[in-house]
Amino acid sequence: MNNIQPELNFNLQNFNTFRLPAIAERVYAPSNVQEFINLLSDLENYIILGAGSNVILSTTSIKTPLILTHKLNKVEIADKNVTVECGVKSAYLSKITAENSLSGFEFLAPIPSFMGGAVYMNASAHGQAVSDVFIKACVYDVSAKKVITLKKEDMQFAYRKSVLQKGNFILLSAEFGLKQADKNEIQEKINNNISKRQKTQPSLKTPNAGSIFKNPEGSSAGALIEQAGLKGKIIGGAQISELHANFIVNLGTAQSSDILELMFFAYNEVNKKFNVKLKSEVIFIGEKTEAEDRIWQKLQS
Ligand SMILES: Cc1cc2nc3c(=O)[nH]c(=O)nc-3n(C[C@H](O)[C@H](O)[C@H](O)COP(=O)(O)OP(=O)(O)OC[C@H]3O[C@@H](n4cnc5c(N)ncnc54)[C@H](O)[C@@H]3O)c2cc1C
Repeated sequence: MNNIQPELNFNLQNFNTFRLPAIAERVYAPSNVQEFINLLSDLENYIILGAGSNVILSTTSIKTPLILTHKLNKVEIADKNVTVECGVKSAYLSKITAENSLSGFEFLAPIPSFMGGAVYMNASAHGQAVSDVFIKACVYDVSAKKVITLKKEDMQFAYRKSVLQKGNFILLSAEFGLKQADKNEIQEKINNNISKRQKTQPSLKTPNAGSIFKNPEGSSAGALIEQAGLKGKIIGGAQISELHANFIVNLGTAQSSDILELMFFAYNEVNKKFNVKLKSEVIFIGEKTEAEDRIWQKLQS
């Protein structure tokens, strides 16, 4: 039985990397996995938020109860296996596994996600992916209303895809198998990954949500948007990054509609010039206006 009280009309500006000042009507923040499970079984519907680094939060309204996972942050290392709760920060995991001479999470160092979101999206970079090291996950099965284990073969991992996106499983914790390696070599890989980013992508000082569109097969969304001449394009408070064309940055006053309109502008220009239909990588959370909904449908098809 759940007895956590929700916070009402909660401003999520510090809970999403776009720094959108979205207001959620009801927000829960369970402080341990059992509380999380109780909430999941009691609430009729809900949305889970990890680090909010791959989402556009509606600045119109968010009526569905939202569950924040940042307090679920336990890590256990046993030999070469690491078990993490879903609210563990990816960069922290990269750091502590490096300190334990374990290789496999170097790519997570520059990614500002939590591990629940990283598994959900099968996050990847620098030639490594979550699916490479994933062993199993403890998940809440929404339709059966119980906790079960999913093995790697159940996860349907692909580029930016996992079975979690079908909506029937909520990740509670996951176990990964890493490789023993030289601590200095792991740290060097991490440093290289971080410095590569600093040169090619905007930092979170200009709030953003990473890549906006998925890369079309055999091509790069960023290169197509850049070749369409759109770097620096501004709509409202949102801008296509001057540094990397597949990033949209919040200039300070962006609303969710500015970001969607800018995405739609890029989608149309790339489609006209290269006959390629870009697909959104970011996920929209909350209510959409009619105009936003029309755009969103296009960006999914
Ligand atoms: C600067 C920057 C750089 C980035 N670089 C990369 C990169 O190199 N590679 C890459 O792949 N991505 C990258 N991203 C995107 C983003 O970090 C990843 O998609 C990440 O995996 C999202 O994790 P999150 O915790 O922020 O998830 P959120 O954005 O909070 O949520 C994403 C989705 O996951 C769901 N979710 C979250 N937790 C759970 C859970 N416990 N159970 C079920 N569903 C859950 C949410 O409901 C939502 O639908 C970057 C983003 C930024 C801002």
